[in-house]
Amino acid sequence: MKLVLATSNKGKLREIKALCKDYEVIPYSELIDEFEIVEDGDTFKENALIKARAVFKALGDENIIVMADDSGISVDVLEGKPGIYSARHAGVDATDKDNLYKLIDDIKALHVESSPAHYTAAIAIVTNTSEKCVHGWMYGTVIDKAVGEGGFGYDPMFIPDGFNKTLGELDEDTKKRLSHRAKALSLAKAILKAI
Ligand code: IMP
Repeated sequence: MKLVLATSNKGKLREIKALCKDYEVIPYSELIDEFEIVEDGDTFKENALIKARAVFKALGDENIIVMADDSGISVDVLEGKPGIYSARHAGVDATDKDNLYKLIDDIKALHVESSPAHYTAAIAIVTNTSEKCVHGWMYGTVIDKAVGEGGFGYDPMFIPDGFNKTLGELDEDTKKRLSHRAKALSLAKAILKAI
Protein backbone atom coordinates (compact mmCIF):
# COMPACT_ATOMS: atom_id res chain seq x y z
CA MET A 1 0.00 0.00 0.00
CA LYS A 2 1.26 3.46 -0.95
CA LEU A 3 1.32 6.10 1.81
CA VAL A 4 1.98 9.72 0.98
CA LEU A 5 3.53 11.66 3.85
CA ALA A 6 2.59 15.30 4.32
CA THR A 7 6.07 16.21 5.60
CA SER A 8 9.50 17.08 4.34
CA ASN A 9 11.14 16.86 7.80
CA LYS A 10 14.02 14.45 7.19
CA GLY A 11 14.10 13.14 10.78
CA LYS A 12 10.40 12.29 10.77
CA LEU A 13 10.63 10.78 7.30
CA ARG A 14 13.52 8.50 8.29
CA GLU A 15 11.71 7.30 11.42
CA ILE A 16 8.32 6.80 9.74
CA LYS A 17 9.93 4.82 6.88
CA ALA A 18 11.74 2.61 9.41
CA LEU A 19 8.52 2.06 11.38
CA CYS A 20 6.29 1.40 8.34
CA LYS A 21 8.34 -1.19 6.46
CA ASP A 22 5.20 -2.87 5.04
CA TYR A 23 4.19 0.30 3.21
CA GLU A 24 5.61 2.28 0.34
CA VAL A 25 6.17 5.60 2.13
CA ILE A 26 6.62 8.60 -0.16
CA PRO A 27 7.05 12.24 0.89
CA TYR A 28 4.57 14.40 -1.01
CA SER A 29 7.47 16.49 -2.34
CA GLU A 30 8.33 13.55 -4.62
CA LEU A 31 4.93 13.93 -6.32
CA ILE A 32 4.28 17.68 -6.37
CA ASP A 33 6.19 20.86 -5.55
CA GLU A 34 6.45 21.59 -1.85
CA PHE A 35 4.09 24.33 -0.72
CA GLU A 36 3.56 26.24 2.51
CA ILE A 37 0.91 24.86 4.84
CA VAL A 38 -0.29 27.29 7.52
CA GLU A 39 -0.45 25.27 10.73
CA ASP A 40 -2.86 27.49 12.65
CA GLY A 41 -4.57 24.83 14.76
CA ASP A 42 -4.59 24.96 18.56
CA THR A 43 -3.65 21.31 19.06
CA PHE A 44 -1.33 18.67 17.57
CA LYS A 45 -4.43 16.91 16.24
CA GLU A 46 -5.76 19.98 14.43
CA ASN A 47 -2.37 20.69 12.86
CA ALA A 48 -1.88 17.08 11.76
CA LEU A 49 -5.31 17.13 10.09
CA ILE A 50 -4.62 20.53 8.48
CA LYS A 51 -1.41 19.14 6.90
CA ALA A 52 -2.95 15.85 5.74
CA ARG A 53 -6.03 17.58 4.25
CA ALA A 54 -3.91 20.20 2.45
CA VAL A 55 -1.72 17.57 0.81
CA PHE A 56 -4.68 15.31 -0.04
CA LYS A 57 -6.41 18.24 -1.77
CA ALA A 58 -3.24 19.35 -3.60
CA LEU A 59 -2.58 15.83 -4.94
CA GLY A 60 -6.07 15.60 -6.44
CA ASP A 61 -6.03 11.79 -6.47
CA GLU A 62 -9.04 10.13 -4.82
CA ASN A 63 -7.24 6.84 -4.38
CA ILE A 64 -4.33 8.17 -2.39
CA ILE A 65 -3.86 7.83 1.39
CA VAL A 66 -2.15 10.79 3.04
CA MET A 67 -0.55 10.60 6.47
CA ALA A 68 0.70 13.60 8.49
CA ASP A 69 2.68 13.79 11.73
CA ASP A 70 2.43 16.82 13.97
CA SER A 71 4.63 16.54 17.00
CA GLY A 72 6.57 18.43 19.62
CA ILE A 73 7.99 18.58 23.10
CA SER A 74 6.31 19.95 26.24
CA VAL A 75 8.48 20.93 29.22
CA ASP A 76 6.96 21.03 32.71
CA VAL A 77 9.05 23.95 34.08
CA LEU A 78 8.00 25.94 31.00
CA GLU A 79 4.32 25.14 31.63
CA GLY A 80 4.13 22.86 28.62
CA LYS A 81 6.03 25.04 26.15
CA PRO A 82 7.07 24.87 23.35
CA GLY A 83 4.34 22.25 22.61
CA ILE A 84 2.71 22.82 19.22
CA TYR A 85 5.26 25.59 18.57
CA SER A 86 8.27 23.23 18.86
CA ALA A 87 9.31 23.69 15.21
CA ARG A 88 9.33 27.50 15.57
CA HIS A 89 10.58 27.84 19.15
CA ALA A 90 13.58 29.98 18.14
CA GLY A 91 11.68 31.81 15.36
CA VAL A 92 9.87 31.10 12.10
CA ASP A 93 12.98 30.14 10.12
CA ALA A 94 14.71 28.37 13.02
CA THR A 95 16.71 25.20 12.40
CA ASP A 96 16.48 22.15 14.66
CA LYS A 97 19.78 23.25 16.28
CA ASP A 98 18.48 26.80 16.91
CA ASN A 99 15.40 25.35 18.61
CA LEU A 100 17.44 22.89 20.68
CA TYR A 101 19.80 25.56 22.05
CA LYS A 102 16.93 28.01 22.65
CA LEU A 103 15.19 25.39 24.81
CA ILE A 104 18.44 24.73 26.68
CA ASP A 105 18.79 28.49 27.30
CA ASP A 106 15.18 28.69 28.53
CA ILE A 107 15.86 25.98 31.11
CA LYS A 108 19.15 27.55 32.21
CA ALA A 109 17.37 30.90 32.62
CA LEU A 110 15.19 29.28 35.28
CA HIS A 111 18.33 28.09 37.12
CA VAL A 112 17.33 24.42 36.92
CA GLU A 113 19.42 21.61 35.48
CA SER A 114 16.52 19.45 34.31
CA SER A 115 12.75 19.17 34.09
CA PRO A 116 10.16 16.49 33.42
CA ALA A 117 9.02 16.71 29.80
CA HIS A 118 7.20 14.71 27.18
CA TYR A 119 6.94 14.35 23.45
CA THR A 120 3.55 14.13 21.69
CA ALA A 121 2.89 12.85 18.17
CA ALA A 122 -0.46 13.20 16.42
CA ILE A 123 -0.74 11.12 13.25
CA ALA A 124 -3.57 12.02 10.88
CA ILE A 125 -4.75 9.76 8.05
CA VAL A 126 -6.88 11.30 5.31
CA THR A 127 -8.53 9.43 2.42
CA ASN A 128 -11.40 10.38 0.09
CA THR A 129 -13.89 8.88 2.55
CA SER A 130 -12.39 9.35 6.02
CA GLU A 131 -10.30 11.45 8.38
CA LYS A 132 -8.73 9.90 11.47
CA CYS A 133 -6.15 10.98 14.03
CA VAL A 134 -4.27 9.01 16.68
CA HIS A 135 -1.71 10.02 19.33
CA GLY A 136 1.39 8.69 21.08
CA TRP A 137 3.47 10.07 23.95
CA MET A 138 6.98 9.53 25.35
CA TYR A 139 7.80 10.74 28.85
CA GLY A 140 11.21 11.66 30.26
CA THR A 141 13.48 14.49 31.39
CA VAL A 142 15.08 17.37 29.53
CA ILE A 143 18.54 18.51 30.65
CA ASP A 144 20.40 21.80 30.28
CA LYS A 145 22.86 20.52 27.66
CA ALA A 146 22.96 18.65 24.36
CA VAL A 147 24.59 15.22 24.46
CA GLY A 148 25.01 12.89 21.46
CA GLU A 149 24.37 13.25 17.76
CA GLY A 150 21.62 10.66 17.24
CA GLY A 151 17.94 11.28 16.50
CA PHE A 152 16.92 14.80 15.50
CA GLY A 153 15.42 17.96 16.95
CA TYR A 154 15.39 18.02 20.75
CA ASP A 155 16.67 14.42 21.12
CA PRO A 156 20.17 15.36 22.42
CA MET A 157 18.61 16.98 25.52
CA PHE A 158 15.89 14.37 26.19
CA ILE A 159 16.41 11.37 28.50
CA PRO A 160 13.51 8.89 28.24
CA ASP A 161 12.13 7.49 31.52
CA GLY A 162 14.02 4.32 32.50
CA PHE A 163 17.30 5.39 30.84
CA ASN A 164 20.29 7.50 31.86
CA LYS A 165 21.31 8.62 28.37
CA THR A 166 19.78 11.09 25.94
CA LEU A 167 18.08 10.06 22.71
CA GLY A 168 21.12 11.63 21.06
CA GLU A 169 23.25 8.88 22.62
CA LEU A 170 20.83 5.92 22.51
CA ASP A 171 20.65 3.83 19.34
CA GLU A 172 17.86 4.20 16.79
CA ASP A 173 16.30 0.85 17.73
CA THR A 174 15.76 2.03 21.30
CA LYS A 175 13.93 5.16 20.13
CA LYS A 176 11.95 2.98 17.71
CA ARG A 177 10.63 0.94 20.63
CA LEU A 178 9.82 3.89 22.91
CA SER A 179 8.89 6.87 20.89
CA HIS A 180 5.71 8.92 20.74
CA ARG A 181 5.85 8.42 16.95
CA ALA A 182 6.19 4.63 17.22
CA LYS A 183 3.20 4.46 19.59
CA ALA A 184 1.00 6.66 17.38
CA LEU A 185 2.06 4.72 14.29
CA SER A 186 1.13 1.38 15.80
CA LEU A 187 -2.43 2.75 16.20
CA ALA A 188 -2.28 4.29 12.71
CA LYS A 189 -1.36 0.90 11.23
CA ALA A 190 -4.51 -0.63 12.71
CA ILE A 191 -6.52 2.07 10.91
CA LEU A 192 -4.62 1.48 7.66
CA LYS A 193 -5.37 -2.25 7.83
CA ALA A 194 -9.09 -1.46 7.99
CA ILE A 195 -8.95 0.84 4.94
P1 IMP B 1 6.15 19.81 13.15
O1 IMP B 1 6.89 19.43 11.90
O2 IMP B 1 5.37 21.08 13.00
O3 IMP B 1 5.31 18.67 13.65
O4 IMP B 1 7.25 20.13 14.25
C1 IMP B 1 7.84 19.14 15.02
C2 IMP B 1 8.88 19.79 15.93
O5 IMP B 1 9.02 19.02 17.11
C3 IMP B 1 10.26 19.87 15.30
O6 IMP B 1 10.94 21.02 15.75
C4 IMP B 1 10.99 18.68 15.84
O7 IMP B 1 12.33 18.93 15.99
C5 IMP B 1 10.30 18.44 17.18
N1 IMP B 1 10.15 16.98 17.32
C6 IMP B 1 9.06 16.23 17.00
N2 IMP B 1 9.33 14.92 17.20
C7 IMP B 1 10.59 14.87 17.62
C8 IMP B 1 11.43 13.78 17.96
O8 IMP B 1 11.09 12.60 17.87
N3 IMP B 1 12.67 14.11 18.37
C9 IMP B 1 13.10 15.40 18.46
N4 IMP B 1 12.38 16.45 18.13
C10 IMP B 1 11.11 16.19 17.72
